[in-house]
Amino acid sequence: MTTLAERLARPEILRLPPFDISANANAAFAADAVRLDANENPYPPLADGPLAARLNRYPEPQPAALKAAMAALYGIGTDEIIVTRGADDAIDLLARTFCRPGTDAVSICPPTFAAYAHFALLQGARVVEAPLGSDFAFEPDRFLESIAGEPELKLAFLCSPNNPTGGPIDPADILRIADALPETIIVLDEAYIEFAEIESLAGEATRRPNLVVLRTLSKAYGLAGARVGAALGHADTIAMTARALPPYPLPSLSIAAALAALSPARRPLQAERIARIKADRERLAGLIAGAPEVLKARSGGGNFLFLEVADPEGLSARMRAAGVRVRFRPHAAPGGVRISIGSDAENRALLSVLGLQAGAVTPRRAEVVRETKETSIAVAVDLDRAEPRRIATGLPFFDHMLDQVAAHGGFSVLLECKGDLEVDAHHSVEDCAIALGQALGKALADRRGIGRFGFSLPMDEAEAHVLIDLSGRPYSRFEGDFAADHIGAYPTQMTAHVFRSFADSLGAAIHVRVEGENDHHKTEACYKAFGRALRQAVAREGAGDAVPSTKGVL
Ligand SMILES: *Cc1c(COP(=O)(O)O)cnc(C)c1O
Repeated sequence: MTTLAERLARPEILRLPPFDISANANAAFAADAVRLDANENPYPPLADGPLAARLNRYPEPQPAALKAAMAALYGIGTDEIIVTRGADDAIDLLARTFCRPGTDAVSICPPTFAAYAHFALLQGARVVEAPLGSDFAFEPDRFLESIAGEPELKLAFLCSPNNPTGGPIDPADILRIADALPETIIVLDEAYIEFAEIESLAGEATRRPNLVVLRTLSKAYGLAGARVGAALGHADTIAMTARALPPYPLPSLSIAAALAALSPARRPLQAERIARIKADRERLAGLIAGAPEVLKARSGGGNFLFLEVADPEGLSARMRAAGVRVRFRPHAAPGGVRISIGSDAENRALLSVLGLQAGAVTPRRAEVVRETKETSIAVAVDLDRAEPRRIATGLPFFDHMLDQVAAHGGFSVLLECKGDLEVDAHHSVEDCAIALGQALGKALADRRGIGRFGFSLPMDEAEAHVLIDLSGRPYSRFEGDFAADHIGAYPTQMTAHVFRSFADSLGAAIHVRVEGENDHHKTEACYKAFGRALRQAVAREGAGDAVPSTKGVL
């Protein structure tokens, strides 16, 4: 019995040897292999940096570690994914695998992403247009009508959420189309799904030979420059598509960058970033809807807005003159402009061209990622928000201590550390303190408009005194002793060390003195008092943006 992929593939593809998509194809790429098979140069390039170290070697055709990480991310098996040079490349592969020039057709639902028609036309396929309905909604009946009488429809591209209009397609409608067209591959482009409220159909695609889902690390993971995407689907369909892969599609540098971005320690920050972009999208949509020239601000499910305006060309020209680039496609989407959600500064620039005020003061947020052989840490702080606070260092007592700092400091912290706790707690404790201090320092930027000083008074039966000066100059003093070696897995001698690390990485003078009976209370009092002192020192004060020093700089 032939598979759907065998029935649909071009004869040229069927004549190619199958691509060995399994991980054992990568055995030849083991770091300790004597590699004399690929005419590589034995010497690394004359370039700097750790990434250059193995650039003289070809990358794995399907990088096993990255494939495993992406398969896990999308909840599918490793033979149900091919990793491609961006999702764009997956579109090209699908067209080349399945579309016979001059004979076969693909369908698109305009206004939509331009690459579907581009790669189909390059391959010599016909492009059948099945436009979206009113309000840019996907209407399954209307779609089926538009493509009826196309016996050679090989690929049907559906984009959900759609670029540029943002609207998601109900997953039930997509499955209905897949059921109705058993001899057509439905290519569901989920490039923006991380920003949407709908469920991915990745799992469903692995069970249906005629459904392929496209994903990308470009948008949600900030890796557009690395070019990493994937096609997910039934193992037969994926294996057929892989025959059209170029020999080494992904540069080693991109593989390394993608693996780093997907490392488990960075998950919480990643989720927080996506949540922030979604919140900014809704906030901007609300503000922009009030601009007189805007007929409708569609927020949809992507990391962008689609603004319907009376004069999109005029608006995009005004934006360009102000140095703000937005997307206006007069033929594909004549009624509006697509605007990506940017950083705070970029969003302010956008709003000002529309004659709107961004409101609120400059946010004081920062992210720090810190990677060593001993620890992998990602931390985000927001000094103007009390929530969320989620700390996971692998040491419950230390989590509790850092949570005291944030809770009493009145700021949000996300901190995730994967450290070598099997060695001991030292590296994790020290490196978390360094990374948190760096993040606080970065969030304070040039330290304008803050109190700068903080002090704290005795707490509980144990007394901890903490004095802080956010002077920019590290200095640390710690007076106090602990009777026990450890509290849980936390070594008590690390407390002095932590405050020294904070002082160094935050650029602050920190004096701590602690007395009392119970080591747990004493330790906790130090962290709480530090949080209280920090709250005063980072508080916004007075008229706003003065540097709290007669020198004018900190
Ligand atoms: C950006 C985008 C892609 C391409 O993503 P890459 O992985 O960067 O190639 C695919 N589909 C849609 C709808 C997009 O907007």
